[in-house]
Amino acid sequence: MRVVVSECLRGVPCRFDGGSKLDAAVCELCSRPGVEPIGVCPERAAGLPVPRLPAELLGERVLLSDGTDVTEEFEHGAASCLSSARCDASAPWDARGGLPPLAILKAKSPSCGSGVIYDGTHTHTLAEGDGVFARLLRREGVCVVSEDMVESCKPSVEHPVAIVLGTGLGHLAALVKPVRRIDYHDIEGFPRDARPVRGHSFEATIGTIDGVPVVVYPGRIHLYQGYSAEEVTALVRHAHRLGCRDIFFACATGAVPGNAHVGLGILTDQVNLTGQNPLAGSNLRDVETPFVGMTDAYTPYLRTLARGVADDLGITVEEGVFAGVMGPCFETPAEVAMLRGMDVSYTGFSTALEVILAHALGMNVLGMTLASNESGDPKMSHQSVLEAAERHADDFERLVRGVLRLL
Ligand code: SF4
Repeated sequence: MRVVVSECLRGVPCRFDGGSKLDAAVCELCSRPGVEPIGVCPERAAGLPVPRLPAELLGERVLLSDGTDVTEEFEHGAASCLSSARCDASAPWDARGGLPPLAILKAKSPSCGSGVIYDGTHTHTLAEGDGVFARLLRREGVCVVSEDMVESCKPSVEHPVAIVLGTGLGHLAALVKPVRRIDYHDIEGFPRDARPVRGHSFEATIGTIDGVPVVVYPGRIHLYQGYSAEEVTALVRHAHRLGCRDIFFACATGAVPGNAHVGLGILTDQVNLTGQNPLAGSNLRDVETPFVGMTDAYTPYLRTLARGVADDLGITVEEGVFAGVMGPCFETPAEVAMLRGMDVSYTGFSTALEVILAHALGMNVLGMTLASNESGDPKMSHQSVLEAAERHADDFERLVRGVLRLL
């Protein structure tokens, strides 16, 4: 996977003060097999001297601390880095015109900063916004993140990756080199009387997959079994308390005809049609506020990594919006038509509430699905879901392992 990276994060002394901002997590990612870093420094590409006075973005203008306007230089440098990041053989189907899917850029800079940057007053005050280069890349459809995101997604023994598996996908648990097992019934908030449906198992495993610390939950309970929103999200709360910062959800779904095909999918967003919400009610624990913004609930960085892994390994995956429904009956033709009209690609009985809670807890979320049938297919059954899971088991396993190796 090709990744645009700020040169200063890789130790190049190109910053205004003549220094660098070497970042260990970014360097580690850049050294992973399959990762092709493209180092850029838009300010150096603009021909600006090093060292020089610091610059900040004030509205649309970039000003040095003595008031000199360097907007043109910054725009020129950004455009030049954009063209050097483009792949020579850009494929016509590539919406980004040959650009890499991911850029990891130095936080807060008037060129590279994304989300927050210094506010133009030269008083070390931050404001919402993107730097000149980050803005340009976003406009081209590139996922832009700072080094903070790479660091926050990096697993460790203290911060293992939680993986919650759905119907038929629990075999991934067999890959774990176990350190400890936890019976779900010992997990706070998990119902004592719950028994796994076929294709699920109720024993979490803490250990490693390919050396990456993980906690794998190879099964879940559902609203349609009569459990509450709080109960079906108990595993997420448990993972968060264990220290997990990344959480992968895998679920079996139906593909909405016209919007997605049967096979593997990466979830980009969701519509919660269950009528339930784990943040509703008075029994809120661990969550600071129930009034949580749900933009980017599926972490763009993780889904870009997953997409990149799939492309590199030749695994066919689509991307789309997920709709969580109560179940257990499958959709009527009228419901399928409604979902199609809502731009929904996948629909299923789990995941939506878990994603809400994980996002509210500040966790990084990756949603992956196996669409085993088309929604509304009269032949859809629990058995057909298990058979489809079996068929895609290899690709699913390669996808998950590939993403884990990149973190
Ligand atoms: Fe260059 Fe961007 Fe680093 Fe500034 S933040 S020194 S423009 S790479």
